[in-house]
Amino acid sequence: MKKIIITIDGWSSCGKSTLAKQLAKELNYVYIDSGAMYRAITLYFLRNSIDWKKEKAVKEALQNIQLEFRTNDVTKKTEIYLNDENVEYIIRDLVVAEKVSEVAAIKQVRDFAVAQQRKMGGKKGIVMDGRDIGTVVFPKAELKIFMTADNAIRVERRFKELFAQNPNITIEEVKNNLEMRDYIDSHREVSPLRQAEDAMILDNSNITQEQQLKKALEWVKERA
Ligand code: C5P
Repeated sequence: MKKIIITIDGWSSCGKSTLAKQLAKELNYVYIDSGAMYRAITLYFLRNSIDWKKEKAVKEALQNIQLEFRTNDVTKKTEIYLNDENVEYIIRDLVVAEKVSEVAAIKQVRDFAVAQQRKMGGKKGIVMDGRDIGTVVFPKAELKIFMTADNAIRVERRFKELFAQNPNITIEEVKNNLEMRDYIDSHREVSPLRQAEDAMILDNSNITQEQQLKKALEWVKERA
């Protein structure tokens, strides 16, 4: 099978990264979590009190940001590094999630991230998930998947994940955060979240992870 580019876009917490990781493992492809890049940039802005409403401040800050994905020797999973620091776990915090959509709506930030994402796809054999991967980053990707799932199911999934790390978190906070991000992500001017016309829709509200992988692999076979 020839190597292709697989893009997975969709609403927050509908299992994009789970499917992307499954596919990457099965096909021996590289998995890139584009959301981690926006989260890492947001973390940098928060830590350094960057006023992201000011163009000059954003431009200067981006010059000091280096993002890299490295494979963890033990888990074999890719993790994001911000200026040589592993930030894979800290970027999942709600403090970052509260601001990431605002930061990701800034054109300079998107230009910075998209340029790097395109380079990563140069050799194909990549699965990348996000919001604009099939529409903007790789509009010519061989396989585009648009994922969706019922709201209540998405909230429940993300709540379980976050609660495991922070038992003080409430389901209300998680629900509000998902709703807010989905709203900003789909209404922003630059590269809003939308389904590519040629995307395959995958609603995983009522299917198992095995079933969703099987479906996606069928699509890969048709395209590769
Ligand atoms: O995928 P994840 O939920 O970690 O993404 C965090 C946020 O990053 C999204 O809510 C969105 O604001 C932004 N994002 C984006 N474009 C992408 C991936 C993520 O704007 N391709």
